[in-house]
Amino acid sequence: AYPEAIAMRCQKHTLTYEELDVRSNQMANALAKAGVVMGKKVALYLNRDENMLPALLAVQKLGATYVPLDPSYPVSRIQYIIGDAGAEVVVCNANNRNVFQEMENTSVVDLETCDVSNQPVTFELPASFDAAVPVYMIYTSGSTGNPKGVRIPQHALLNFLTAMKGRLTLGPDDALLAVTSLAFYISGLELYLPLLSGACVVVAGETEVKSANKLAGLIDEHRITIMQGTPSLWQMLKETDWRPNEKFTVLCGGEALPVNLAQWFNAITGNAWNMYGPTETTIWSSMAKINNTDHVHIGTPIGNTQMFILDEHLMPLPVGHVGELYIGGDGLAMDYHNRSELTKEKFIQWQYKGHACKLFKTGDLARFNSDGSIVCLGRNDGQVKIQGYRIELGEVESKMMNLPEVDHAVVVVPQQDGPKAMVAYLKMKEELPLDVLRSRLNLHLPAYMIPGKFILVESFPLTPNGKVDRKALGNLQQGKQLTGEGYVAPRTEREQLMARLWEQVLDVEKVGINDNF
Ligand code: AMP
Repeated sequence: AYPEAIAMRCQKHTLTYEELDVRSNQMANALAKAGVVMGKKVALYLNRDENMLPALLAVQKLGATYVPLDPSYPVSRIQYIIGDAGAEVVVCNANNRNVFQEMENTSVVDLETCDVSNQPVTFELPASFDAAVPVYMIYTSGSTGNPKGVRIPQHALLNFLTAMKGRLTLGPDDALLAVTSLAFYISGLELYLPLLSGACVVVAGETEVKSANKLAGLIDEHRITIMQGTPSLWQMLKETDWRPNEKFTVLCGGEALPVNLAQWFNAITGNAWNMYGPTETTIWSSMAKINNTDHVHIGTPIGNTQMFILDEHLMPLPVGHVGELYIGGDGLAMDYHNRSELTKEKFIQWQYKGHACKLFKTGDLARFNSDGSIVCLGRNDGQVKIQGYRIELGEVESKMMNLPEVDHAVVVVPQQDGPKAMVAYLKMKEELPLDVLRSRLNLHLPAYMIPGKFILVESFPLTPNGKVDRKALGNLQQGKQLTGEGYVAPRTEREQLMARLWEQVLDVEKVGINDNF
């Protein structure tokens, strides 16, 4: 409707809707030359710069599936994902091309040298899109040792965005600040919802998303009216002196909303939402306006989505009774790519009183309030959230047990005030210095999946039926904490002060001057 309106801003770059269309057409032409056709999987390993959004649109114009990769992942994880997804093309920037040097079956398109600007400015969209081709495939932590790909159909994304358009009134005067990594599926809201509303999306760069002060600066500079983030991200902003105007919309989701944060939202804006949803049901499945902070809940399902709370026999539970949350409707993923067993286990066929449908088993414990809103009460499995990242403890344990020196590993997240962190209990065949252990794990796990503390034990406490008693591990007296071999005690008064501060903040015992936060 308004080709000259601003669609995207990123650092010094600005694209109008028309320019964004042209740029993505040119990229689609460049990708077509590199062999991308409908149905192909295209891995995206992109910097947060002005090319990111046009590249995403280009893949979609071709009717291909994008597989986003986070450049902070270790190379072995990137390679695993590309191989598992069967991505034949990787799109990257010139500065990170070397990551893919040794990958023989993958062709690499780097956006700086593929001559995008000289491609035709029009692109012929396919006459029809194949509904069986997923729009994207996102990898999330897998409990048995490797990440798994969740395949999202195009209609699920469309349903989600249409539902959001109905619930959040965005228009041409709005600007959304996009801060989420492409590899975290909630970025779909940030990048596409403004474009469907005639609003502007401002893409925050790599360094900006890590700094609350820089984000606050961007919000003011670009007159941002809406931003989405995890509770951890909002907590970061809360600690600055940034305050929004009262029309500002806060979308907060991805993990449980702490009461103190809900209270802060209420104090700064009348327009804050608690968003809930797993990757497997396409971004958010329910949302709640945050107003009564004594009773934080996740609200009611969005359009064409159903939520049920069932007992272990899959019978619906009455109001107030705690059971497992199941989600059905148009947001459901197609499956876990190439994992038919796991797909069958998590996407169940449910029958009740002559009604049959497919439901996703979330693993979340929940209960209904009498007004139909839902309260989330934590997990009933080994999935945790640390700083907004979804982690299967089983995956971390399995990567540790792949090390020849480790006999057995159990990872827990102790209940504590303040930020949650993983603690690994290890029975070793041979002791390793902490820095060696960490750097070995770094080869296989992203930084957020590496536990903060490592404790050596001789044996594990067991439950009566012989399983490791995870709850009792926290009270274990016999363990010895692994500390770095290169420990150098703080020498000056200033170093001592710093070391003491880190010990308190991270709740660890001995911080040396060489320790790496
Ligand atoms: P992910 O697929 O990474 O978003 O992880 C989904 C899980 O995060 C859900 O199954 C919940 O356990 C948790 N989660 C997401 N949003 C919320 C929320 N608003 N409140 C409580 N838990 C949440």
